Amino acid sequence: MENDLLSRWRTQYPELFKECFEVWLPQGWISIVEKRLPIIEAIRVRTGLSVEIAQIKEKFGGLRFYLDFIHESIYDEVSKLVDEMEKEAEKTCEYCGQNNDVTTSAAGGYWIRTRCADCLKRDREEVPA
Ligand SMILES: [Zn+2]
Repeated sequence: MENDLLSRWRTQYPELFKECFEVWLPQGWISIVEKRLPIIEAIRVRTGLSVEIAQIKEKFGGLRFYLDFIHESIYDEVSKLVDEMEKEAEKTCEYCGQNNDVTTSAAGGYWIRTRCADCLKRDREEVPA
């Protein structure tokens, strides 16, 4: 799934993703990034200035979106979008994408996950004692 996502986005946005080495996103967060990529692409096209994404991934239950290379005059505008994505992910279940009762914890296992109450309950039931 992850590698398919990188190749799909690289095809759609060849300039943004030409140096990107990893996209690793849980299912519930794909749309958070997907809806901002056209905005970032539009900034690039409008200004004719470079912006390149290095890596997009989940870490410690949070969304990490790393830029590799960006012209200083569009940095603030693009950083604002990155902040929005990271904040939205904090409130979005990484499994199912819903926003109700979402918490970040290692409960029900070892990995830190950002989950809604339903997905947390399911994880707790699945984990071996
Ligand atoms: Zn969920």
